[in-house]
Amino acid sequence: MKQQSQVKLLIISCLIILAGLISIQYYLIRNTYQLTSETYVNDVKKQIAPVVESPEMDSIEELFFDRVKKLCLKKSIDSLSVGQFQKEVRWVGDSMRYLSRNYLQSQFEDYPILREIRFRSRVTQIVFETDSVYDTLLKFTEIPIDYLGQDFKGKAFNINTGNVHSSVDTENDSINQKVKYFYKHNQSADMDISNFQFKILKKMTGMLIAAVALILSVIILFFWMYRSLIKQKKIAEVKTDFANNISHELKTPVSSLSLIIKSLKIEEINQNPQKLNELIISLERQNKRIQNLTERVLESSMEYKTELQKADIIQFLKGILSDFKSEKHNINLEIEPETLTIRADYYLLERVVQNLLENAQKYSPGSSEIKVKSYVSNSEFIIEIQDKGIGISTTEQQKIFDKFYRVSEGNRHNIKGLGLGLYLSMKMMKSMGGNISVKSKLGEGSTFILKIPAV
Ligand code: ADP
Repeated sequence: MKQQSQVKLLIISCLIILAGLISIQYYLIRNTYQLTSETYVNDVKKQIAPVVESPEMDSIEELFFDRVKKLCLKKSIDSLSVGQFQKEVRWVGDSMRYLSRNYLQSQFEDYPILREIRFRSRVTQIVFETDSVYDTLLKFTEIPIDYLGQDFKGKAFNINTGNVHSSVDTENDSINQKVKYFYKHNQSADMDISNFQFKILKKMTGMLIAAVALILSVIILFFWMYRSLIKQKKIAEVKTDFANNISHELKTPVSSLSLIIKSLKIEEINQNPQKLNELIISLERQNKRIQNLTERVLESSMEYKTELQKADIIQFLKGILSDFKSEKHNINLEIEPETLTIRADYYLLERVVQNLLENAQKYSPGSSEIKVKSYVSNSEFIIEIQDKGIGISTTEQQKIFDKFYRVSEGNRHNIKGLGLGLYLSMKMMKSMGGNISVKSKLGEGSTFILKIPAV
């Protein structure tokens, strides 16, 4: 329980550290992105300045504002409507844009950066005053009038903004009188850079790769740490289980031995040859039990050397089954074919079949049926040992062949075992080129299937 909360604490701490690391990385990347963007935009501005601020562009701009002033005067005298005024200014703006675009295109060769940007200048407000009457001819809230460069929508990088005030006395040719006016316009110049985000991210590639690699390696490191912790925890559990199981297994023969020794000390018994003989047989049985246990534990850490012999496997199987006595269970045989000679390690095979028969007995209720079936399929000799016992859940079926693994329910029901029988059986079968598998349903029973190459 304590270990479980330690694992939980470790996971939570790792997640917090990871979240912190990701936030810091995000903050750094965002700042670097902004800084790189600013530097890049300033750099582009510097590169296009000689064209944008060239005398050619200035003269187109001057021409435009000259026309605008004239239209303002016309508006004040002719009583053009604001809508008509704007329409005419837009029309003038369009023709100026046409001129400026031609000029910009002529500079493509000397300033290749111009191919990657779209530049525009626009008026955002026009205010005109004559005889103390203010006339706002273009409001800030209205659609600005472009007069230089190209059209574009979306994010624009500002190059400059400004406003021009002029107060002039002028001769109006059309009415031949002096007009005093105050004129003001606000303007802005901005640009759009194609594939801007991509360009900036490309400049940051090294940093982005390093950041992702750093976070990934931290995640992998945490995951690896977590896995080895779980593995260690499992090993510790297996060790404790094994210590419990082996002491449980040894308890009966050891207490029987001390009982036999006590009895041997009693004169009445040791002088009686018949009782003495019974005690010696019992002594041999308990000794065999302890021997089997130690053998199993020793075998669990060594490899089997197989000795393949040719023999009739049907005769062999019938022999094991007739030796196998079950007082409580009803053993049902379906042995096929009549005879079959194959190469196998018959010593190991006998131990495997016995293991499976003992398990079928151990894990199924008395008087239930144990069925042993054999047949040939796809050049393999198959032995099936089927019981109607407690069964094994699907998740446990994958683990029961592991070393020392016991289904916890088995422990709860106090069925003795070390969790080595199936592990050793699998090892023995593999060493002779065969295999074991299991089909089972919890509560309904299990079928263990042995496959031996029929050669
Ligand atoms: P042991 O029987 O000593 O515990 P095994 O390696 O023979 O060890 O078996 C591993 C586990 O597989 C057992 O603890 C038991 O839970 C399960 N098992 C094996 N055979 C059967 C069976 N015939 N029916 C149900 N469960 C079985």
